[in-house]
Amino acid sequence: MKKIAVLLRSNTEEWLHLLRTALPQHIVVADAAEAADAAYAVVGKPAPGVLAALQELQIVFSVNAGVEALLESGEVPAGIPIVRMVDDGLAEGMLEWVLATTLAWHRNLFAYRDRQLQGVWAPLGEVLARDRRVTVLGAGHLGGRVAAALAQIGFNTRVWSRTPKQIPGVVSLAGDAALPGAIQDAEILINLLPLTPATENLLDAPLLARLAPNAVLINAGRGRHVVDRAVLDSLESGRLRAAVLDVFREEPLPQTHPFWRHPGVYMTPHVAAPTHASTAVAAIAENLLGFESGASLRHVVEPARGY
Ligand code: NDP
Repeated sequence: MKKIAVLLRSNTEEWLHLLRTALPQHIVVADAAEAADAAYAVVGKPAPGVLAALQELQIVFSVNAGVEALLESGEVPAGIPIVRMVDDGLAEGMLEWVLATTLAWHRNLFAYRDRQLQGVWAPLGEVLARDRRVTVLGAGHLGGRVAAALAQIGFNTRVWSRTPKQIPGVVSLAGDAALPGAIQDAEILINLLPLTPATENLLDAPLLARLAPNAVLINAGRGRHVVDRAVLDSLESGRLRAAVLDVFREEPLPQTHPFWRHPGVYMTPHVAAPTHASTAVAAIAENLLGFESGASLRHVVEPARGY
């Protein structure tokens, strides 16, 4: 019987229960002493040294889609595969958050709310989705699904990724050279990239300057994709009319950060797509049982490319 160590900072009891139910032929433990001979570890951001103590470790399952913290910390011993979280629950959550924010801006809901409170009846000029240019950065499990849904609604949708994609109704642009064209004149820019050395600080002043005037930036990737100063300057200059931010360089965002009280910034506290243990455990169990039956492990991170 192989052992699974659950090394999480919260919700441990729920994960233990669900994993034990989904994988009754495995021993699932959370106690550090009992975990010493675990073959598999289920982790978020493990404390230093915790993974190195697992002498028989074969696979690390991340409860997060973004694995930059695991890669940057160097806590996962070399050669041990890291499986990132690919789960329908995560994708559904992200789709809801991005559609909610995109449609709210597309239909001027915040502006009408302000006008309502001022007693002002003044249409802003509504445009059809087909006449709204939206770009999604990242076309993976999350970005691909978001782009497909936006296109289905009718938005004029482009995606940018490392490799070309075929998504119905979506223009796919791939590779570094295509980035300026992917962003040019976008009215809504949605970031769903993973954080890697190649994508860190990608959303800087020259890039934001390519957007249409009064564009909306929607960031649910990672805070370090965005140069904060460039976002604030773009809001001041009117290049951006709003920045909708779910993720930040430092979380919780320090109280002194100008984003907190800036009228053009709309924040949510990293809740766009939380991992739900119920769907996430099902994804881990399916992958693990397939692997133990001889199939290839799925969703393995490639350390060299950083995601
Ligand atoms: P995937 O790995 O499935 O997709 C990543 C996408 O980014 C792929 O399309 C990939 O291209 C593209 N990409 C990566 N590097 C580059 C690059 N250098 N240039 C161009 N394109 C690049 O990840 P997910 O969709 O599952 O998740 C994306 C990110 O969303 C996570 O890493 C995490 O940071 C964030 N996230 C945020 C959450 C929140 O609550 N705010 C919750 C969950 C995730 P290609 O397809 O060619 O490989």
